[in-house]
Amino acid sequence: MEDSRSDLTRRKFIGASLGCLVSAGLVGVSPTKVLAEEKPESSAGEIVYRTLGRTGIKLPVVSMGAGAANDPGIVQASYKLGVRHFDTAANYQFGRNEQMVGNAIARLGVRDQVIYGTKVMTPAQRRDVTPEQVKKRLFQSIEGCLRRLKTDYLDIVYIHDVRDAAPIKDQAMMDGLAELKKQGKILHTGVSTHANMAEVINETVSGGFYDVVLTSFNFTMADDTAMMGAVKNAGAKGIGIVAMKTQAGGANFPEPQTRTEFSNSVINRAALKWVARNKNVATSIPGFSNYEHMNEDFSVASNLEYTDEERKFLSDNNIRLSIGFCRQCRQCLASCEHGTDIPNLMRTHMYAAQYADFYLARTTLNEIRSDQSLVNCVSCSDCSAICANRVDIARRIEELKLMYA
Ligand code: SF4
Repeated sequence: MEDSRSDLTRRKFIGASLGCLVSAGLVGVSPTKVLAEEKPESSAGEIVYRTLGRTGIKLPVVSMGAGAANDPGIVQASYKLGVRHFDTAANYQFGRNEQMVGNAIARLGVRDQVIYGTKVMTPAQRRDVTPEQVKKRLFQSIEGCLRRLKTDYLDIVYIHDVRDAAPIKDQAMMDGLAELKKQGKILHTGVSTHANMAEVINETVSGGFYDVVLTSFNFTMADDTAMMGAVKNAGAKGIGIVAMKTQAGGANFPEPQTRTEFSNSVINRAALKWVARNKNVATSIPGFSNYEHMNEDFSVASNLEYTDEERKFLSDNNIRLSIGFCRQCRQCLASCEHGTDIPNLMRTHMYAAQYADFYLARTTLNEIRSDQSLVNCVSCSDCSAICANRVDIARRIEELKLMYA
């Protein structure tokens, strides 16, 4: 099921695309809706903390997505600034990212003051395996995380990159995680998702096993009623929501025609505040790998009020739609007769072109099944105009070919 192509036929595709347009909020949308949210906590310059659902963990509303960082100094400076939650993954930088975070925190001697979130069992590792192999791989992965992070327990372990209900219902995975919890090697479990997020969040809530969802969530989704509803429902049911992709790829917009009068700082802060003001989101993990972005992002933790410029940016519907953020809805899959995995190629493109994180881009590309990979694309451009989010799919795939084919 997972990773399989949508069962939409090309005939059904037109209808599905219209549905996508509506659910994506691109038909008859009020531009002011993006700012129509409840008032955030007043901070008076103090860091705003929230509780991560039923885990009971209290965290600043801004944490560190460490995946793109390779300087332990940034991790240590973040801790000194007030960051208490560091997000990484077993496969980020082929394990070196966990090592870097573990070394940085070990040198400070503050392991007991911080929360580690890490991710294991990627889609490729979950593919075509027996229940026995699932448990074996899970146990091996956790031993690797513990070793690299220099710790004897992991606070939150996510199943990495969940795109549908199947991994959430995988009994062998739950049995393995429960055993690891009993052994004290992990404290809380979760799923991470950047595709079909509303469905994954709702399945996690109804399944009842996992405590946390790490989800893609940003202002381009303000009108996506399914997503907004899923986040609200999770918050109400005690599932901790951690937000990633908070800045929709950042101010380095992927569409060259998108020009903006707003500074990078306004764009980044406005986007992060939009996420952090949602009280169903316990914390967010903007990825920063330099000191300027660290200070900029963490400043939001103690000031959730929008400036006039930030409000102006967020309420500009034209910019919001021109960004062409791929929200991994997978509606485009049916447009390609050659089986190309468009959503994951769009994610690869974002990591390379916007994040300039070539490790992550390469890892994402490697995760794509060989029968759905870049070489399958014959450059027919049939997919060009089908995305409700105005993602220029064909151009981005051609750019990927220049880089990777
Ligand atoms: S390119 Fe992304 S946002 Fe557009 S239809 Fe495909 S998965 Fe959805």
